[in-house]
Amino acid sequence: MDDIDHLGWSPALAHAFADTAAPGQIAGRIIAHHRGHYELTYAGGTLHAQCAGRMRHHDDGLGLPVVGDFVIARIEAGAATIDAILPRRTKFARAVGDLTRHDVAKGEQIIAANIDYVFIVTGADADFSVRRLERLLGAAFGSGAIPIIVLTKIDLGLAPPMIAQLALEAPGVAVYQVSNATGEGIAPLRGLIGHGRTALLVGSSGVGKSSLVNRLLGMERQATSVTDNNGRGRHTTTSRDLFLLDGGGMILDTPGIRAITQWQTDGIEDAFADIAAVAADCRFADCRHQTEPGCAVQTAIAAGTLDARRLADYARLDHELKALARRGDKRAEAAQTRQKRILTASHRKRPPP
Ligand code: GDP
Ligand code: ZN
Repeated sequence: MDDIDHLGWSPALAHAFADTAAPGQIAGRIIAHHRGHYELTYAGGTLHAQCAGRMRHHDDGLGLPVVGDFVIARIEAGAATIDAILPRRTKFARAVGDLTRHDVAKGEQIIAANIDYVFIVTGADADFSVRRLERLLGAAFGSGAIPIIVLTKIDLGLAPPMIAQLALEAPGVAVYQVSNATGEGIAPLRGLIGHGRTALLVGSSGVGKSSLVNRLLGMERQATSVTDNNGRGRHTTTSRDLFLLDGGGMILDTPGIRAITQWQTDGIEDAFADIAAVAADCRFADCRHQTEPGCAVQTAIAAGTLDARRLADYARLDHELKALARRGDKRAEAAQTRQKRILTASHRKRPPP
């Protein structure tokens, strides 16, 4: 395989590359990122990569590369140096508290780029947290990718009431029911991820993400990584987050996602599209939907066309995100400490490369 079409390379990226790349530079995709070290897959294989010093010091507005990024790089002595990031089609981000910090563009930390689907994984063995689901939905919508809810553990027989609840909490979002234990429902989900498409897995610990990755890869009967797809120029990789499925499509399961505690605000209106639609008719543009005269949201609740609990959830999340943006530092710091602890504590179970 001499190209990177299977990794999601597109005519738009090819144009951007042709516009900016110098002779000798190559294009590739970041398949893993850990503490400043990257793994880069290009037409010739997979290499360790680092950012050019110039990139670290001159912000081009895109910040540093993240998993899923397409980049321009140079190859020297068996390693790659990343010179630039090609424009991102989508980006999955979490909001961070301290908006004044230098390394955090626009108050968000981008965790993955160029994803097509966000698989919000939730298990049918325990009550899911509505707040968490709403946050994940918000972040997913904010990313530009298509959110899909994946309900795992349907073999336990507890799924039906949850499916009804999910339909209420996430109107219009497709729900795929799977069992990683029996394999039921895996094929339709697998079929959703088309050639060159990337699905990002998000969800709490224990919901079955690792099992799902193994199932999706296991459909091809062997664990296939992006690296293994290419016989030439293979190099030892420390780890990888982006897995290539035989027959096309990729799943992105990155440890960084695990630690997410706060979410970007952009997506909130989408996650609460029903409220936003009604609120458009409020008399005041800055209506808080409480006791304001001419509030269309309160009218809808009184009329029974909108669930009061939805408004309460919306208000809570909105309040939380705003407070987070104001308060910033302390909480973001605490979250980062927590994140580090979680990251070191939980090493993913994966099939050997
Ligand atoms: P992760 O933390 O999200 O990666 O979750 P894991 O994949 O490690 O799964 C957590 C636990 O749930 C493990 O004990 C799995 O065996 C179990 N599990 C995962 N998926 C299923 C499923 O579909 N059905 C059942 N019965 N158990 C599952
Ligand atoms: Zn209102």
